[in-house]
Amino acid sequence: MSRSTEIPKAYDPNPVEEYWLQEWKDEDNYFDPVSTKPRFIIDTPPPYPTGNFHIGNGFNWCYIDFIARYKRMRGYNVMFPQGWDCHGLPTEVKVEETHGITKNDVSRDVFRQMCHDLTIQNIEKMRATMRRCGFSIDWSNEYVTMLPEYYRKTQISFLRMLKSGDIYQSEHPVNFCTRCETAIAFAEVTYDDRTTLLNFFDFDGVEIATSRPELLAACVAVAVHPDDERYAGTAGKTLKVPLFGYSVPVITDGAVDPEFGSGAVMICTFGDKQDVHWWKQHQLDLRKAINTSGRMTSIAGPYEGLTTKECRERILADMKEQGILNRQENLEQRVGACWRCKTPIEILSERQWFVKIHNEGIIKAAKEIKWMPDHMYSRLENWASQMEWDWCISRQRVFATPIPVWFCDGCGATVLPDEADLPVDPTAVTPKNACPVCGGTSFTGEKDVLDTWMDSSISVLNVTGWDGGDIPERFPAQIRPQGHDIIRTWAFYTILRSLALTGSKPWDEILVNGMVLGEDGFKMSKSRGNIIPPEDILKDYGADAFRQWSAIGAATGSDIVFSWNDVVAGSRFQTKLWNIARFVLMQAGDSGDFTEDSVTVLADKWLMCRLSATVAEVTDAMESYQFDRAIRGIREFSRDVFADNYIELVKGRLYEDEGPSRDSALYTLRAALATICRMFAPITPFFSEECFSYLNEGSVHAAGWPDLSFVDMDAARNGALLVEVVSEVRRFKHDNGMALNAPLGQVVVYANEGIEDAGDASRALNAKVSWTTEKPHLEQVVSDVNFSMGIIGPALRNKARGFMDAVRALPEADLRNGVSHVTVDGEEVAVPEGAFEPVYVYRVAGATVDVLTLKEGVIVTVLRIA
Ligand SMILES: [Zn+2]
Ligand SMILES: [Zn+2]
Repeated sequence: MSRSTEIPKAYDPNPVEEYWLQEWKDEDNYFDPVSTKPRFIIDTPPPYPTGNFHIGNGFNWCYIDFIARYKRMRGYNVMFPQGWDCHGLPTEVKVEETHGITKNDVSRDVFRQMCHDLTIQNIEKMRATMRRCGFSIDWSNEYVTMLPEYYRKTQISFLRMLKSGDIYQSEHPVNFCTRCETAIAFAEVTYDDRTTLLNFFDFDGVEIATSRPELLAACVAVAVHPDDERYAGTAGKTLKVPLFGYSVPVITDGAVDPEFGSGAVMICTFGDKQDVHWWKQHQLDLRKAINTSGRMTSIAGPYEGLTTKECRERILADMKEQGILNRQENLEQRVGACWRCKTPIEILSERQWFVKIHNEGIIKAAKEIKWMPDHMYSRLENWASQMEWDWCISRQRVFATPIPVWFCDGCGATVLPDEADLPVDPTAVTPKNACPVCGGTSFTGEKDVLDTWMDSSISVLNVTGWDGGDIPERFPAQIRPQGHDIIRTWAFYTILRSLALTGSKPWDEILVNGMVLGEDGFKMSKSRGNIIPPEDILKDYGADAFRQWSAIGAATGSDIVFSWNDVVAGSRFQTKLWNIARFVLMQAGDSGDFTEDSVTVLADKWLMCRLSATVAEVTDAMESYQFDRAIRGIREFSRDVFADNYIELVKGRLYEDEGPSRDSALYTLRAALATICRMFAPITPFFSEECFSYLNEGSVHAAGWPDLSFVDMDAARNGALLVEVVSEVRRFKHDNGMALNAPLGQVVVYANEGIEDAGDASRALNAKVSWTTEKPHLEQVVSDVNFSMGIIGPALRNKARGFMDAVRALPEADLRNGVSHVTVDGEEVAVPEGAFEPVYVYRVAGATVDVLTLKEGVIVTVLRIA
């Protein structure tokens, strides 16, 4: 694409952004494995390839891109990789819907291929949006967890942890979704409130209350509180289970709440976590009444084959018919549900694979990581310290990393592949060697697959170069950016896995971002209709305006409300800055040869001081990832300091002067514009590149972060006074209905220090401005009287007019000092409190002037032109 060298009048983001997308090369963002620069590796989140890169992703990636671009400009060898966390239920469910099948209708291979194909299409869609947003992703470090080169590493990590004892298999109660027919982890259980019925009936005369009568066939004991006198002496006895007729023991346990229902509870395997606890503690029987598809088993007798819901209805109907249902009450309940399909979870005891959780080690490692904002650390700590069960990592699904294990048909031994032979699908191939225990050659491959967090929790190992050894060459990464919604999962599991596989923390820092809420302040959802696709924003306002909203909308870590106003404000700021840039480029576009030594005039020195202070502020904000602070610093400097004060002050010099004082301004204008572009480049990469390109100094992204330390205390102080005087006199003109360029006579500034401003103030104010350290000889004269009619009217009524005439006639000294009485029509009249005030004017050498009082005792006199 070729472009004219004319600077366009208006800034139109979309063609500009499309142009730079064509110009920029992917290679510019590649991590250089042989560079000697300091490394900065980002453990980017691998999103789930839904095909829809939503605004929450966009917000998250804006933060990552601000950091990546900033760190590159600071001279780091940055790796901003991009992964795709492909495996898992949502894709399986989507494939089942799209093809109108269930996973069991086709072979595992065919089903996997369907999932694979859908995932590839979805990744392509999301990549396109990411590119359009201007994210400087290192596409040479892209990884896709469903591909063999990645899941080989997941399998190696599994084998290593199995061998070290951190992974084991066991039959143990786990959270189970009977719709998805798979075990799920605690982190995948969501809780909902609902109202249900509490049913009361008798076990041999002892009343029991339960919300889940369908679990009667799984009842293994009745528990009462040891101090509950109603049940004194029942411990150790047995009670008959109604409808089913078998007997269960009565046990006592301090955890029973005597206030709930009748104070006697039935323990089932398993109604809830408490049942699991009691079951273990009292070593009770295991009665499995519900199978993995959510249907009643044979121990449910006549109810076998029914769903749990059908079974509950039938049991309650049968109880009513037999007259044994005493009563029913409403009960408010929190129910755990599958995160994916919202089906209430069951707790089923099945053979599963588990990862051991060492809470203390995880908390210790988490403390060694810098959390930003720091209060996010406590979320990790709270979660880690309340974990009671190990992490169930086996899933009874298809589209996931296979568990690389066989079982010997002869002796049941667990047989493992060699690491060199990975990846393997044990359901498709057999072990190379005979069973090491019994010599048998017939095996069954493990059908269970791994939780997808087993893939994503080694993302940091993957990006730091791990290939199954001990500690990867580039480990740990410098930063993990992620949302606070996945602290319990991705952050927690990553720390756990890094400790297990390397013995140390995964990253130096973790930056936690908030969630994006709809404009109405609620979580975005289809049902509320408050979803904003990033494409809508890009289409109308371009990527840079979207990125500015991300930066300014909230403090880092806080939830952010989507706001079209912020997007529009970002777009307007670009227009404003473009106008500033055009002015600067037209004046100073070809003054690139000047050096800082050309800065000789007070206003220019002052601006350079302010620019240095802004660079320091924005640098500090970027270092601490406070993007809202960084963008505010850039906007305030550009708009308020540079455009409104400085440019207005030096315009006259540019038009009227030539020689060194003009050169001083040209250098300063250009330096300020170039520095603004460089500071703004991480947030608005397109706009900054476009402006900077007219300075002919190469790409702004390769220009380095501005390093400016212009210090001149006198210039900072005197320049601030100069700017204040000019803006106060301009305000004076405005307040008195004068045009800003209207001529004034003499303006005298009485300050403590003399100022040499090279005529800037005179030109800016269209006046003869002089600066003096002398004290002003002001003569104060009463010129008029202001009356307060609100006081005079009620107090004096028909005497008001005469009163005012009498006051006006008073000698000046009385007007200044006030009097207690005046004479109206020969009568002494008291002066009401606050009835009048003298109006003063000032004179200098006999001429009437206006007086402006500034900070620190600075006086400005303005002589108007008659
Ligand atoms: Zn489910
Ligand atoms: Zn064997």
